[in-house]
Amino acid sequence: MTTDASNAPQAAQESVTPEPTNAPGRNEMPVENRAGANTDAGSTSTLAWGARSDVGLVRSHNEDAFLVKAPLFVVCDGMGGHAAGEVASSIAVQTIAEHAPTHADDILLGVAVEDANTAVLEGSLSGVGKPGMGCTATCVLIENNKMAVAHVGDSRIYLLHGGTLVRITHDHSYVEELVDSGEITADEARIHPSRSIITRALGSDPDMYADHFTLDVSTGDRIIMCSDGLSSMVPDKDIEELAVSSVTPQAAADTLVSAALTSGGHDNVTVVVIDVVEDGLASLHNIQRLKQVRTWIIIAAATMLAVFAVLVGLMHNSWYVGNNNGTVGVYRGVRDEILGIPLHTLIEHSSVEVCDLPAALQNQIDEGIIVSSAEEGHATIERYRDQIDDEKTKAAAAAEATKAVAGANQKQQKDDDEDTPEDETGDATPSEAAQTGKQAADEAESSALAQVQSAERGGE
Ligand code: CA
Repeated sequence: MTTDASNAPQAAQESVTPEPTNAPGRNEMPVENRAGANTDAGSTSTLAWGARSDVGLVRSHNEDAFLVKAPLFVVCDGMGGHAAGEVASSIAVQTIAEHAPTHADDILLGVAVEDANTAVLEGSLSGVGKPGMGCTATCVLIENNKMAVAHVGDSRIYLLHGGTLVRITHDHSYVEELVDSGEITADEARIHPSRSIITRALGSDPDMYADHFTLDVSTGDRIIMCSDGLSSMVPDKDIEELAVSSVTPQAAADTLVSAALTSGGHDNVTVVVIDVVEDGLASLHNIQRLKQVRTWIIIAAATMLAVFAVLVGLMHNSWYVGNNNGTVGVYRGVRDEILGIPLHTLIEHSSVEVCDLPAALQNQIDEGIIVSSAEEGHATIERYRDQIDDEKTKAAAAAEATKAVAGANQKQQKDDDEDTPEDETGDATPSEAAQTGKQAADEAESSALAQVQSAERGGE
């Protein structure tokens, strides 16, 4: 931690009465209804807070100031004597409130504190307050699970996490340097005669700078900000115990101020307690989950659109010859269907009966015979029609021939019965005629079969 030695241990070498003039004489000093006390409690959806400032039991006036303007919280401890320290702390909290960022940006929060330093210096020069007045400034700005911190002086911030209290600021004080160098302990620092000498404060050096950093906080964390009126009177282990056992932030602030008063109340004491009710991580996860779902929906929709485009292309650029309730028809599209929706439409029907075609061809038509165009489909059906007509013609010829054979056989039988000698004209005998008729019928059948097979090949 940097200290500003060139700035000199100056500021608040205040005279502190060693013992309280009105020491409580009781275990617990009540804080309610005390003159000059100032409180502030409230909550948002993510934070709850309570604050109390008390003049203490020794001082005549309260030079501390605090600001509760969620998500910004500030504690300033003024110094410089009567009617000056409170002016400095008042100018500081007002300037920080006006200049603080709206997000948990610790650099900008540090700049706001440095602006407050300038304002306090200008106040001294312009006659507002007194020359040499100054103050500490300790600020937090909490946004979801981030806490930006800016800090100058010996006011403190503690973080109570999981029941354990950790101090997260480093005092800019003479005794803190002694503790850092190992010359005294933290407990000795609390009662050291030079404990009021601070090495960095607002109101003395135009080039003063603020410590600043950002911490992660989480739901359930409790943040305690205080002036040295608490930390110089109450050991950290007692602050931890009281903070853990207080249910609400205001109860914690009241209990801690009461503890400072009970210990003597030598100084003004200000405590601001902030609970992180909701760190926003759950809603952040929900937002991320929603984004993932949205991404998957977009991918699914794009995929469906692509499939739809392919199907539309198939439906517009594909044709087949198929079975239209027993007759042969031409279809645009493909024979399949999706979710019960057919991917084809009938564009030409015909009187050609599927049952008039050979069995193998019927099966192919049932499955759909793909053609390259509607015209080719139409030509295919016409070819089937011609072939069926041809087959019917040949079948009729074969039937005629069979009929002739039957007639000849009857005549032969009759001649045989009459024992008629063989015809000498050289014409064919009835048995020859029968043979001729059978040959004609066989040829007609072969020819018809050959043509149909040719048609099947043509249709494939
Ligand atoms: Ca003080």
